[in-house]
Amino acid sequence: MPNKEKIIIIGGGIGGLAAALSLLKRGLDVEVHEQASELKEVGAGIQISSNGTRVLYALGLEEALKRVQVLPSRRVIRHWSSGETWNWFDLGAITAQRYGTPHVMLHRGDLQGLLAEAVRAAKPDAVKLNRRCIGISTENGHAEVRFEGGESVHGTYVIGADGIHSKVRAELFGADKPQFTGAVAWRGLVPMERLPERLQQMQGVNWLGPHGHVLHYPVRRGEIMNFISFVERDDWQVESWVTQGTKDELANDFRGWHADVHEIISRIETPYKWAMMVRGPMARWSKGRVTLLGDACHPTLPFLGQGGVMAIEDGYIVAACLAKYLDDPARALARYEDIRRERTATVVRKSHENRRSAFSPALADQSAVAVEVAREWQQERVRERMEWLYAYDATGVAI
Ligand SMILES: Cc1cc2nc3c(=O)[nH]c(=O)nc-3n(C[C@H](O)[C@H](O)[C@H](O)COP(=O)(O)OP(=O)(O)OC[C@H]3O[C@@H](n4cnc5c(N)ncnc54)[C@H](O)[C@@H]3O)c2cc1C
Repeated sequence: MPNKEKIIIIGGGIGGLAAALSLLKRGLDVEVHEQASELKEVGAGIQISSNGTRVLYALGLEEALKRVQVLPSRRVIRHWSSGETWNWFDLGAITAQRYGTPHVMLHRGDLQGLLAEAVRAAKPDAVKLNRRCIGISTENGHAEVRFEGGESVHGTYVIGADGIHSKVRAELFGADKPQFTGAVAWRGLVPMERLPERLQQMQGVNWLGPHGHVLHYPVRRGEIMNFISFVERDDWQVESWVTQGTKDELANDFRGWHADVHEIISRIETPYKWAMMVRGPMARWSKGRVTLLGDACHPTLPFLGQGGVMAIEDGYIVAACLAKYLDDPARALARYEDIRRERTATVVRKSHENRRSAFSPALADQSAVAVEVAREWQQERVRERMEWLYAYDATGVAI
């Protein structure tokens, strides 16, 4: 029989665990069902801006973050071929002063680990592994989730936090139709001590160039360098966290780029590639007692570094709405969508716009990069562009 108040979350990624912790903190019962056999995020970094750390601090995770985070001492822009360097701004300290909580750089596994630890501290058996959702139905005031292997669970609500290829989304609204952007993202990690000393810096570096963009920043207390790059190419269209490429293929995509870029590429342990797709905004995320969050309902290109942060904000807000209107699913989920729809749609739209400017062919020219840096990457300009994102307080929204 259904447990009166149990909320079932499908997916133990960043969004699912943030929602679980938010619900537990509000005294609601939760189970997280994750398809993987262990909670082990892909080997990659993630930046969490002030609007995300504000939520994580409200969930009591400040000290846990401090044990693993990097607060970048500064950010710089470099020219793709000459290596000329421009100071950008000090994201770590300045964002903490301005927005109250810092912009941090993390290993995804560390973020997922500290969220899972907090969930388990509140409810030791909250996370169930090896649970791949294959179907959902709702009737008589409860929802049933079915898993591969024949098991099923009941709850009063189901939250699909199962990522970009969400089964829950497909069950509610049918298959989606992503469009390929013509660009591929590469990701990889390098143990810091394997890099030449000049590259072992506690700073984020963005390399501006034509037809591509490179970004690297330290994670896990500065012990690992996280590498991400984007390149225009149309021969790879698989959207996956786990597809490996080769270092030669990655190096070839950045032929002609500065030697420092290749120093890092040559030391990456395993490069992963991800074809970047876009989807139009969904009109609704919920049906009956089932809703979605994070990439399951608004997957975004990574050009604002906000997909994970949006999933964290969603988790906090959906928990607040369920806690307030627990006995009224229509109202609870309508309020959740009303609060989140426009903000997340704007992130998706602006990230897509950024993709168009991020690697303009004009950036091949050295003076064009200098002009671009002066126009778009100065502290005040970046602040104007990002203020609406970073100053947002999900913990203060009236529900
Ligand atoms: C190259 C790149 C760089 C990025 N950088 C940033 C950044 O710096 N900052 C940022 O905020 N965002 C960033 N993002 C976006 C961010 O990674 C995602 O938005 C975020 O991971 C979404 O979290 P989620 O919890 O919604 O989904 P996911 O992290 O995808 O988690 C979904 C979980 O559900 C599980 N699951 C899936 N299907 C099922 C099923 N049927 N049954 C049970 N479990 C299931 C999966 O195993 C997984 O654990 C980046 C993305 C890319 C591609």
